Amino acid sequence: MAALRLDGRALAARYETLLAEAITAGLPRAGRPPGLAVLRVGDDPASAVYVANKEKACRRIGMASLGGHHPAATPQADLEAEIRRLNADGAVDGILVQLPLPGHLDSRALLMALDPDKDADGLHPLNLGRLVCGEPGPRSCTPAGVMALLREAGVPLRGARAVVVGRSVLVGQPMALMLQQADATVTVAHSHSRDLEALTREAEVLVVAAGRPGLIGAAHVRPGAVVVDVGIHRREGGGLCGDVRFEEVEPLARAITPVPGGVGPMTVTMLLANTVRAWARRHALPDPLAQP
Ligand code: NAD
Repeated sequence: MAALRLDGRALAARYETLLAEAITAGLPRAGRPPGLAVLRVGDDPASAVYVANKEKACRRIGMASLGGHHPAATPQADLEAEIRRLNADGAVDGILVQLPLPGHLDSRALLMALDPDKDADGLHPLNLGRLVCGEPGPRSCTPAGVMALLREAGVPLRGARAVVVGRSVLVGQPMALMLQQADATVTVAHSHSRDLEALTREAEVLVVAAGRPGLIGAAHVRPGAVVVDVGIHRREGGGLCGDVRFEEVEPLARAITPVPGGVGPMTVTMLLANTVRAWARRHALPDPLAQP
């Protein structure tokens, strides 16, 4: 039987509808729409595309897009001053600094300058600490999107064996914490792990965020596993692929995310969700995704 496709495009569209409805319903009380400021520095071509996508997504749900594009040579102090200005701006609910930054800039110091309650990417150390403690706060977008996909598909996590391949602060670490909070038993594999195949074959839920095209094949997967592929890579001949060899793994899996159309669309949606939630909290409105 073919595996269930975990369709990130469809779920992202549903979440966007809920967010748009929450904005419309909350506008009279809030007196303004939520606002997201995306700071772009320099002319990295991939960043230009990502920022344009985020701005388009803001428009789709009725959120104000308030970011700015700064020249590559902008000094660190000026960007920190801009972040402090956005922290104090009552029309801004979410701020993010688009990475990568030009080499002279310290991204960590910029992240530290953010008001943690306006941290749209959920990557400020205070918010990672809130995640460790199980306290509410903006969550890291990609793993939050994976959790939403698993929830939507009704994948049981309590007591399940989960393996996360990758331990980055952006994806692997918060992913492992979120799975643990859902009562899974989590193993984190990384580039120094021995016998990756044996580790991943234990997984009932396997999340792969290694950034290595085609790393995971049939030999890594336990039959009936749920496989989530976070990797995104451009194929030489055009098109995209993930960290999982889809054609090989799909016949074995119970459910699997495609690339593209799996985790990717959910990441931008969770960025919107963090910002709409911050707006809702500031205006004592209900959580727009409380029971999606
Ligand atoms: P990263 O390079 O920061 O981290 C990769 C992790 O994988 C490291 O912890 C490393 O130890 C581990 N790893 C590398 N090779 C390994 C191997 N052979 N065996 C086991 N572990 C190995 O990458 P990242 O920022 O976490 O991103 C991972 C992938 O996810 C990339 O392809 C990235 O483009 C993609 N990504 C996608 C989205 C999305 O929206 N879909 C968002 C963020 C990242």
